[in-house]
Amino acid sequence: MVSRVIPVDAFDLVIFGGTGDLAKRKILPGLYRRFLAGQMTENSRIIGAARADLTDAAFRTLVGEAIAEFVPKDRQDKKAIADFLDKIAYVSIDATGEGGWAKLQGLMRDNVVRAFYFSVAPSLFGDIAERLHLHGIADAWSRIVVEKPFGRDLDSARALNAVLAKHFTEAQIYRIDHYLGKETVQNLMAVRFANILFEPLWKAEYIDHVQITVAETVSVDGRGAYYDKSGAMRDMVQNHMMQLLCLIAMEPPYHFDPDAVRDEKLKVIRALKPVSPEHIVRGQYNAGKDEGGYIEHSENPASKTESYIALKVNVSNWRWQGVPFYLRTGKRLRARASEIAITFKQPPHAIFDDAKGWHENVLVIRLQPNEGMNLMVMIKEPGPGGMRLMQVPLDMSFADALGDEAEDVPDAYERLIMDVIRGNQTLFMRGDEVEAAWAWTDPIIQGWEARGDKPQGYDPGSSGPEDALMLMHRDGRRWREIKE
Ligand code: NAP
Repeated sequence: MVSRVIPVDAFDLVIFGGTGDLAKRKILPGLYRRFLAGQMTENSRIIGAARADLTDAAFRTLVGEAIAEFVPKDRQDKKAIADFLDKIAYVSIDATGEGGWAKLQGLMRDNVVRAFYFSVAPSLFGDIAERLHLHGIADAWSRIVVEKPFGRDLDSARALNAVLAKHFTEAQIYRIDHYLGKETVQNLMAVRFANILFEPLWKAEYIDHVQITVAETVSVDGRGAYYDKSGAMRDMVQNHMMQLLCLIAMEPPYHFDPDAVRDEKLKVIRALKPVSPEHIVRGQYNAGKDEGGYIEHSENPASKTESYIALKVNVSNWRWQGVPFYLRTGKRLRARASEIAITFKQPPHAIFDDAKGWHENVLVIRLQPNEGMNLMVMIKEPGPGGMRLMQVPLDMSFADALGDEAEDVPDAYERLIMDVIRGNQTLFMRGDEVEAAWAWTDPIIQGWEARGDKPQGYDPGSSGPEDALMLMHRDGRRWREIKE
């Protein structure tokens, strides 16, 4: 199979926060990989910007080190790295001051796409937007890319939208949710809307329930004080898990077009019912043998912030009437595994006697590790002994299906940055989507704050708090095992 790499138009990409963690781990190595793949054209350029007083050469050294650390060894080509570094410049700028902007303005070229990646704290978004305009650096065709967190509640998200809207139109703003850049997540749309097979079954009549799991093994150690102001609901549910839920629940858009897709997602968010307290389980990981618990890591002995959350959510429309969506995410769990599982109902009438062998059909979409899909189907157990049933997976791992090319599939950040240059907003969140997501999230958080609910402890390496198991047991269902 030969994948097609279509080069994007020439660009000047300015990365504010170019020396930061995200730039070093994701943005700069990702751009190098696109360069290596031939997608970033020769006359494109990258300009790092941050307060540190660095020369171009010093910044190039930093980028070279980031490539050495975060790009797989077999993709580190000496000549390509040298050519890539040639395209990189640096400007020392304090987003809140006036120095450096004239220099940046002098570096920008006409007739290329201008993109500005705000890889800095959201409190600086307004300053940067303002000064890009003041100094005539951004024009009407420029694009800006902003990172999560996009607000911490509806009011702050509205304020951020308003700050950006002062200088940029919605068509210029690219709000990143890197989950949307994942290959499997986009495949979810392909599977649903490019096949006749699933869509007729994609409704309450045939689907029993949906589970969305984002499980991590890492703790919050080292960034606990920061995480403690957020928690799993704000950090994962309001954005990433909400987006996954939307892609499963949305109606087919009339076309694969940015606003058509985002209109349908928005309808799903608006159709989410408020969640009652008995359908919310929050947890905090306990101390382990060799590691502190959440309380020690957060440096806040009185913390009531959740490192785990499970929710039962209902989408209030015709298609999903009575179909629960169970969401769970947490830190320090037994395995790092993200998946969506769509469990179908049992056939209306059983003709086989082997009731014991019966399992429902489940479509599992794995986001990590081993991106891929598998459909659990019932077959006859091979051999003599009558008609006994067993469940087997129809398995499609992307690594197997794509062979060597799996290595060259762009990761989420690479794909999304190329989409910014192409001017395609389909995989970015629109301002009204983000606000609608907070409008649903806020009362849930306010509810537990008002009740003074405390998260339940759970052991590191477990599947989460006991009550989360009960959330499904009460409904006669169970969570899928968390495993890699
Ligand atoms: P970080 O490591 O703290 O880096 C912050 C960057 O901003 C540095 O380059 C810093 O350089 C620069 N900076 C700080 N104040 C500045 C100012 N006044 N003017 C100009 N530049 C300034 O942060 P990060 O982890 O890369 O995160 C960046 C953004 O991405 C944040 O909004 C974060 O929430 C978001 N994000 C990060 C990740 C991740 O994995 N790291 C994931 C998702 C979202 P100087 O100090 O030299 O100015």
